[in-house]
Amino acid sequence: MNKIIDGKSTSLKIKEQLKVEVESFNIKPTLAVVQVGDNPASNVYIKSKEKATSVVGINFKHVKLLDDVSESELIENINELNNDSKITGIIVQLPIPKHLCERKVLDAISPLKDVDGLTATNMQKLITGDEGIIPSTPRGIMTLLNTYDIKLEGKHVVIVGRSNLVGKPLINLCLNENATVTICHSKTLDLKEHTKQADILIVAVGQKHLINKSMIKKDVVIIDVGINKEDGKLYGDVNFEDVYDTVSLITPVPKGVGPMTVAMLLKNVVDCYKKNIS
Ligand code: NAP
Repeated sequence: MNKIIDGKSTSLKIKEQLKVEVESFNIKPTLAVVQVGDNPASNVYIKSKEKATSVVGINFKHVKLLDDVSESELIENINELNNDSKITGIIVQLPIPKHLCERKVLDAISPLKDVDGLTATNMQKLITGDEGIIPSTPRGIMTLLNTYDIKLEGKHVVIVGRSNLVGKPLINLCLNENATVTICHSKTLDLKEHTKQADILIVAVGQKHLINKSMIKKDVVIIDVGINKEDGKLYGDVNFEDVYDTVSLITPVPKGVGPMTVAMLLKNVVDCYKKNIS
């Protein structure tokens, strides 16, 4: 039996639908990415965002600022993008240099153009259950669960990792679907005691093979968010081969959550576009 939750093929279908939708727009959406400095990893991520937007017909603007830019100058640049009607989505590529206050900078983005869903306004909407922009990775995970008809109501979802980007938004998204939610982190005592209780286990830590067979119960659904590079190969946070016989379904790494993150970023850009033109 195939137990793979195929993020790659699910994401391709979503991108195909988005392409058709964007083709129907007279004025195309434009995503602006603001980069501070020249972090090599950020350069790679920005290139891949540019490539992804072009595939579905979204315009792309790259604003590159020097790494000693002042906070006020950076916020001025963000405000210009907020006020530019042609720009429908804005990302500040993280990380930004330490002399800049990340919270203040992210909150300078208009919540209507906040395609990463990281402004306090959009994060608060997640808590209250109001409609806002959901960060791409958690949105991708919820879409995958929905696509594979994995119901959350009454289930025990255990999330490992509490970042603003992944773990924390998932708490509310799963609660909204009537799951019982446990969240674990680096200070959790006896991780295994919690992961063994999961009906659905979502792992977003960044440690190769943190989760093995001895830490899960039979027929668990596993969503592996981790991306760990070793000798040019990608590994998840879950030891895929070790757990495969025990799980009912699992996302592979690569071709699991990663491609869904990209597809959902594009969906967020289109959603923000619709909000901005309406
Ligand atoms: P992050 O901000 O570094 O957060 C990692 C989380 O893991 C923290 O909450 C940390 O706890 C927790 N943690 C660390 N060691 C632990 C341990 N031994 N046991 C339990 N929890 C532990 O990372 P992130 O941005 O959420 O990303 C996590 C992973 O997902 C990374 O590999 C990243 O590359 C990947 N990722 C993938 C995608 C995708 O599209 N597939 C998207 C985003 C991220 P504390 O809070 O106590 O420090």
